[in-house]
Amino acid sequence: MAKITKQRKAIYYIGLGMTVLGFILFISVFFSVAMFMNDPFGASREPSFMNSVLGMVLMIAGSVVLRIGAQGAAGSGILLDPEKAREDLKPFNEAKGGMINDVLSNIDVVENFSKSNEEKEVIKIRCRNCNSLNDEDAKFCKSCGKEI
Ligand SMILES: [Zn+2]
Repeated sequence: MAKITKQRKAIYYIGLGMTVLGFILFISVFFSVAMFMNDPFGASREPSFMNSVLGMVLMIAGSVVLRIGAQGAAGSGILLDPEKAREDLKPFNEAKGGMINDVLSNIDVVENFSKSNEEKEVIKIRCRNCNSLNDEDAKFCKSCGKEI
């Protein structure tokens, strides 16, 4: 069974850090543009578009590193070896399968719960006025409002 190595986890987090840093750099330019618009005489606050370019490059590079960390070099498309790609993706697919199983067993629990609730509410009272079914402990018909 293939395992996610520590190096790949480290690569993943480095990529995440690069993406976040790039995003902040990219976004900060818009804030400085807004500040520049409000204060046209503050020439010293002229926005640096270099920052946005740098931020974008960092974001793109970060996302590539992130993918290498998450899927391995093969899964990212850098190594075109389908056999290796499957090996690399295995732990993630297994994790996904486990999650789906968890969800399914949760659904089972919910279904059993609602079934047992339905069984408890089998007893119904038919309204003498309009013939609609009401709960056992109902005092008034939910359909026509007449006292039962
Ligand atoms: Zn009724």
